[in-house]
Formats: sequence, structure tokens, C-alpha cells
Amino acid sequence: MDTPISKHIEELRSELQKYQKAYYVKSRPLVSDMEYDRLFDELVNLEHEHPEFADPNSPTTRVGSDLSSDFPEFHHTVPVLSLDKAYYSEAVLSWIEKSEERGKRELSFVIEEKIDGISMVLYYEKGQLVRAVTRGNGFVGNEVTANIRTLHSVPLVLAEPVDIVVRGEVYLGKAEFLEINKTLEEPYANPRNLAAGTVRRQKSSEAAQVPLNIFCYEGFCNDVHFEDHIQILSYLKHLGLRTDPNIGYFCKTREEAVSKLEKAGLDLIPGAFEDIPDYIARKTKERSSLSYEIDGLVCKVNEIAVRNEFGYTGHHPRWAIAYKFDPPQAETTVLGIDVQVGRTGRVTPVARVKPVALGGSTIANITLHNQDYIDQLELAIGDVVSISKRGDVIPAVETVIEKNDSGNTTWQMPSVCPSCGTALAKIGAHHFCPNYDCPMQAKGRIAFFVGKGQMDIEGFGPETVAFLYDNGHVKSIEDLFDFDYSILNGLRGFADKKVAILKDGIANTRNTPFRNVLTALGIPEFGRKAVDSLCDNGLDTMQKILNVVDENDKETLMKIDQIGEKTAELLIDGFKSQHIRDLICKLEEKGLRFEDEKKSELSAQIFAGQTWCITGSFDSFASRDLISKVINDRGGKTVFAVSSKTSVLLAGSNAGSKLAKAKELGIRIMEEAEFLKLTKDEDIATETVPEEKDSKSDESIQPSLFEED
Ligand code: NAD
Repeated sequence: MDTPISKHIEELRSELQKYQKAYYVKSRPLVSDMEYDRLFDELVNLEHEHPEFADPNSPTTRVGSDLSSDFPEFHHTVPVLSLDKAYYSEAVLSWIEKSEERGKRELSFVIEEKIDGISMVLYYEKGQLVRAVTRGNGFVGNEVTANIRTLHSVPLVLAEPVDIVVRGEVYLGKAEFLEINKTLEEPYANPRNLAAGTVRRQKSSEAAQVPLNIFCYEGFCNDVHFEDHIQILSYLKHLGLRTDPNIGYFCKTREEAVSKLEKAGLDLIPGAFEDIPDYIARKTKERSSLSYEIDGLVCKVNEIAVRNEFGYTGHHPRWAIAYKFDPPQAETTVLGIDVQVGRTGRVTPVARVKPVALGGSTIANITLHNQDYIDQLELAIGDVVSISKRGDVIPAVETVIEKNDSGNTTWQMPSVCPSCGTALAKIGAHHFCPNYDCPMQAKGRIAFFVGKGQMDIEGFGPETVAFLYDNGHVKSIEDLFDFDYSILNGLRGFADKKVAILKDGIANTRNTPFRNVLTALGIPEFGRKAVDSLCDNGLDTMQKILNVVDENDKETLMKIDQIGEKTAELLIDGFKSQHIRDLICKLEEKGLRFEDEKKSELSAQIFAGQTWCITGSFDSFASRDLISKVINDRGGKTVFAVSSKTSVLLAGSNAGSKLAKAKELGIRIMEEAEFLKLTKDEDIATETVPEEKDSKSDESIQPSLFEED
């Protein structure tokens, strides 16, 4: 039965197929890669949410076809697939970790450049090039042998008379592209499209005019047994095939990687697992200085036996992942611009956009930061804009693609607060509402106080806070402690259980660690990192801090690493404010903790000199980063792989190969419960709460010490 969803899925499939044909076969794309990837992502999401409309012929289940009737067809002996993709280096690291768990053994990885050209399969028989075939639909490709024979870097005869299938990427250098493109009547958009067009020329004499090149990266040969990818690369080189020298090889230790490459006679880049993040960052930076275009990196499991175990989907191998440099972008229309007032009075314009799928979520609101940002974009309501997700989660407007046709000019901030009508003041780049009693600010302060990373009081979500405020029950943070929650019993949304949770939550604030209490005060520029710095440097009771503040003792504050004069002044002003003083009095009266738990003295260095490795999943920690922090805070170091130098393996549930390896090496294995006990439960509770950096919350726009604005 046709439903609006199934119809939309069908429309997307046929649209993508049309775009694939233009891109792969004609080398003249109809839409930008950005738009194509966005539609592709949308289809992936819809198919995931509605498996009932699955179709084995969907573009998401097979590779984009470049098959053309202009060239003879050839059935590939090994399918030529696409690659799974990741847009953030963290996703690559997590893929590596999952691959290790899945492979149930220690693996090594090769990270190659993802050459932005076209896939080519070279078939050699007895060392002679007999055929060059495009990827086609992955199973059948087009024979373009005559054209490929014109490439100087493709040997017609190999160093040995072997039968081998070689896979590589045919590309055109950047300088060569610019040179040739300016002579063309209909120039190409990029080197990739010109290379693709050249490979499909009917006359090989014309193809020969374009100095195409090749990097070979895979080989399949029945006569030679390859243990791993490094051996394949070494063999390809030995045969006289051109391989990319800019390839990284990563295993347990750098020394091991060096020795492996030396033995293979390959001059590649060796590294240990912990070097991978830096390597990815460096390659991303170096990209523009290369003489050819790359659009990402490809991370591959090195061990061939494991590759065979992992196998393939219809679309990509499970043993490789492409890290694409440019995160996904999308186009959408600005429907309106709302003005939000944060808890400190800062006013932020937020674009309401036509909902659009981007990188796995639907974007409907995007912060526009301040008037300067809007002025720079020259943004108006009704404009069509290009949006991206920056730093992995935060959506951002990048550019205006098309101006609105309603005559709207660049949007301007209102002169008064939309919440209380007070005239706005401009300080630096931002506008502020100066009225402390502004309802939006008050709600923001309460929501921040009860929120995650601060007091983390159960039951007090933003809706509950808004309800309590709007109905006159809780007008300030102080009121949270005085309100009789029993009044709510029986009201809509307030079942007995919910009311009990709220009461318990408030009662439990007495156990909340001091550092959380300090953060929850919400003093501008005084986020969790600044709180930690103060406490770690001896200002670990409320009294000590207030003494410094009351004596205007900037010097003591400035002795703390990372606190400069301006920040010290802001902190002193913040703590001197009457509102904060009143709040501190109230919290003291209610018995909240006003002293640090002496974490630093008791436990700071208990892991000093130790190397920890973490594996498996954990109940008390949202991420492994948080566990690493607990270990690092206590002087320990964390590494990615288990080796003889590892002091302790912290093993959560479903631990795999690392656990086996640790047992084999006789390394101490610790379970979560023991770890929690050792590091003290109450400390862990604070560590498990990740710092709030939620783009939806108005606090993401709140400048906070040591954090990006
Ligand atoms: P891909 O980006 O998924 O990557 C897979 C390809 O990478 C392989 O087939 C291989 O040719 C190449 N590659 C380069 N270096 C490699 C290495 N070292 N190891 C292994 N493979 C390597 O390729 P795809 O599936 O052909 O293309 C999908 C992308 O093409 C889309 O994300 C989109 O950006 C673009 N596209 C655009 C349009 C459009 O209309 N604009 C249409 C179709 C596809």
C-alpha cells in the first residue's frame, strides 16, 4: 500500500538513481555532492526507521553504478564495492575498537589516503595487462582497457608472470587539471570529473592527451598467499605497480610498526595505536598541500584472515571505513528567527529552519550566536542556506545560497527583551537583557541549577521547571528548597511517584559534591573546569573562596594556571554579587556541601606511574573518556592497546580480545565494581556526568571559563 512515507522513499530512490547516472556515467553531476549525500543520508534514515519498505535495489544497498552501454561489459571476479563512511575521527577510533572486539584478537590497521579519482580494476594474466575495468555496479564493469593503457604509471607487463587482479584509483593531479580545464569549452567542476570523462573517451588517442595517474591499493592473487595488507602493498610495489607512499601503519607499538615496514621493504609511516588521532589530524591539515586531491582517509584492517571473517554488506566491506574530511552539509530555508534569553541575560538569535536530515538527525533550530554573525552572513528570513554540523554535533549556518524573494533584508535584533520588554544592552558582540527578574532568565537559572553537570536533581526536566515557574510555585533557585511539593499531588503530569522523586531529589542535594554545588551557582565564566582548577589549587572550601573574594585577592587567583587577570576580576565580581551571596546563604542553611571531598589529597596519585587500558562497556560511565579522566586525575595513563607494559586492564561487560590478551600476559584485570570502590563512589558520581555542551540548551551560548564561546 502506498503511504506518504513509502512514496517519499520511492521518490528519493529514483532521484538518487538519476543523480548517480549523471555523476558516474556522464561525469557531469546534476547536484552538489553535499546535496547528494544529504538525500542519501535521508534515505538511509528512512529505511532504517521503516524496514517494511526495504528494497534490495535501493541505492543504499548497492554501489552507485557507472555502467554505460558505450563500452563492453565484464563481470568482476571479486565485487568492487563502496566504503562505509565516518565524518569524525572519533567515529574511526570507535570503529577500530569495535573491530578489535569483533575480531577477538589484536589487530593492526592501515590508514590510506582516499584518492578522489575513479575506481579501476586491472586484470593481469601471466604478468600481462589484459583488461582494465571500471567499478560499474560493483559486479559488472565497463572495459576501458585501451584508455588505461595510455597511463604511464600502469605497467603493461609486470615484474613476474603472475595472474593478479589489482585495484586502484585513477586520478588527475591538481596542476594538470587546472592546465587542461582552462582549454575546455565546457570545463569540469573538479579533477575527478575530468579524469572520469577521460577514462570514458571513445578514442584512446584523446585519453592519452590527459596525464592521468594511478595509485594501486589492493591485489587478489590465487598463486600468492598474503597474510596481511602490508604484504599486498609490498608485492604490488615489487611487481612494478605504483602505490601511494603516504600510508600509515599502526599496531601495538611504534617499534613493532617500524620493524614490520622494514621487513616489507616499505617506506610508509609507522605508528602505535595512540598515534592515530594525531595522524588523522595531521593528514587532514596536509590535504591541501598534496599535488592530487584526496577526500578522506581509508582505515583498513590489516589482517587478511580477519577481513575474510568480517566479510561484506551489499554496499561495502566490513573491514574498512572511509573517514570523509568534509562533514555532511545540507540546504534548507530559514522560516523565522527567534530570540532566546539565557540565564545570564545573554540574548541569542536562533534560526528556525525547514526541518532537514543531516548526519543522522533532523535539524529544525540553529543558533546564530549574535548580530555580528548574522551581519556577516547577510542573513534574512526566507533565505535558502547551506548548513553543516560543526565539531560533530552543533549545527551551523555556513552561507546564504539564495536570497529570499519577499524583500526581507538582513535580520536585526529587537531593541527590547522578548520576555520582559526591558531595553537590551550591547556588551561586546552580544546583546543582554539587564533585568535580573526577567522570566526567561529566572527559568534558565533554575534549569541550570538542577541540570546535569550541576546539581543533577532527578525529575526536574525543563518542562517541570517551566511548569513550576509559570504557576508561581518556584520563582527562584531558593524556592526549590522551600516549596511544598505535596501541593502538586494529583495534578496532571504529577502522579504520586513523580512528586516523591522531586522531594527526594531536593533532599538528596545534601550529598551532592561541593564541586557540583559551586558549578551550579551559575557564576558567569565559572564552569566545571574553572571549579576544578580552584579546588585543585587549594581553594577547596566555600569559605576559602569567599575570603579571597572579599579581600579582592586577585593575585591568589592568578597564581592558578589558566586564570588571568580578567578572569580573576570576573570571578571576584561574580561571587560579590548580592544574588549569589543570598543563594550561598540559602544553600548553607539547607546543609549543602561547602567543602571539597579532599579528592586530590586522598586519591590524586593512587594510579601514579600506572598504565591502564579500558575495554568493554560500563554501567556507571556514559563514555570511556570519563573513565580515562578518573584514571588521569589520579596520576595514571590510559592507552588503547594491551601490551606487556600495561599495569591494569579495566574490563567492563562484553570485554573481548583485550581481556584475552591481558590474561595471556598475566596483567592485572579489574572489574567495574572494584574500580568504583577504589576511586570512591561519590567521586565517580560527579565524573559520570558529562559537561553540558548541548547546542539546544541556552547554556551552550554561555561563555564559560576555559571553554569555547
Ligand atoms: P565512496 O566515496 O563511497 O568511496 C569508495 C571509493 O573510494 C572506492 O570505490 C574507491 O574507488 C575509492 N578509494 C580511493 N582511495 C581508496 C583507497 N585507498 N582504498 C579503497 N578505496 C579507495 O565512493 P562512491 O561510493 O563511488 O561515491 C559516493 C560519493 O560520491 C558520495 O558520497 C557523493 O559524495 C559522490 N556522489 C555524488 C553524486 C552527485 O550527483 N554529486 C552522485 C553520486 C555520488
